[in-house]
Amino acid sequence: MSLPKTQKVVLIEKTGGPEVLQYRTDYPVPTPKEGQLLVKNHLSGINFIDTYFRSGLYPSPKPEVLGREAVGTIVAVGPGPNPYNFQVGDRVAWLGTGSYSEYTAVPAAKTVKIPNGIEDEKVLASLLSGLTVLTLAKETYPVKKGEWVLLHAAAGGAGYLMTQVLKQIGAKVIGTAGGPEKVALVKSLGADVVIDYRSEEGKDWVKKVKEVTGGQGVDVVYDSVAKDTWEGSLEVVKRKGTIVWFGNASGPVPPLNLAILSPKCVKVARPMLFGYIQTREEFEFYTNELFNLLKSGQLKVRIHKIYPLAEAAQAQSDLEARKTTGKLLLRP
Ligand code: NDP
Repeated sequence: MSLPKTQKVVLIEKTGGPEVLQYRTDYPVPTPKEGQLLVKNHLSGINFIDTYFRSGLYPSPKPEVLGREAVGTIVAVGPGPNPYNFQVGDRVAWLGTGSYSEYTAVPAAKTVKIPNGIEDEKVLASLLSGLTVLTLAKETYPVKKGEWVLLHAAAGGAGYLMTQVLKQIGAKVIGTAGGPEKVALVKSLGADVVIDYRSEEGKDWVKKVKEVTGGQGVDVVYDSVAKDTWEGSLEVVKRKGTIVWFGNASGPVPPLNLAILSPKCVKVARPMLFGYIQTREEFEFYTNELFNLLKSGQLKVRIHKIYPLAEAAQAQSDLEARKTTGKLLLRP
């Protein structure tokens, strides 16, 4: 197969706001090394984590082609052993770096063939976000039927999927979301209580959570908003409860004196998806589970919009401005 020498990508040379994203049309197409595959990306996912690498909250070498996931077709297999038997032409999903691009050299160990019958859009609207959600609900804190769960940003890319997974487990879900449309969306997923934490009435969401849990508080809080919600999350978690801090949408949790956890014997977890899918076995376990949920229709996806690659900066701005629900995708 003859491949082009150059391609279109979105990269950053320095940290900053969305304006540092550069759309380039002359970036070299990489050659896959041992353990890698060259994938022609059909769709690339936008995740909040991309904004952390852009802003510098998470350090990474620059220049950097942003993006952590895509679906596409294998166009070349790197030299050497091919333990997962990938072939040119396979339709795959992958996790790695550099997906805001037409072609990416990706790690074979974090690539998986997509079963027939599941569309690209469905896979990518739930790949990084869905795997995160499954690991959070099953490993970080194994949620049990009947437990009270507080989930912040429940209408977002991860939140939309998490609400469904929690309800399937049989948890009682309290979601927070900004604005009436987002609230209606989360309610439509079966959440028991949804609070518009940006409204006048919902601003005191701590009081409301205490009320609906009969003053007990929740068994677990899933908090990806962090800076703005952290103190409230600590207040509404019940005695012996757990707070799962898994993102920084409003900024990271400020430096913490661990002694504040002792009065209620609270546990705090700070998980990261890649820590749960390090081995091939773990990666396949969770991707199989995700594909089964998608295939059976048990997990619905929601795509806010598919942006052209050249509009990656606009997509990140929309995400950070809290204008979106569900997942944002890029079409290279
Ligand atoms: P979302 O689509 O959920 O977007 C973030 C949402 O956070 C916004 O829509 C907004 O919803 C809410 N929010 C609250 N305060 C702010 C603020 N100050 N600025 C911007 N948004 C705010 O993004 P993703 O689905 O991509 O990610 C969700 C979270 O999960 C992120 O924090 C991300 O870092 C984390 N994550 C962590 C992973 C891990 O491995 N630990 C893996 C994947 C995601 P609203 O308007 O309703 O408040």
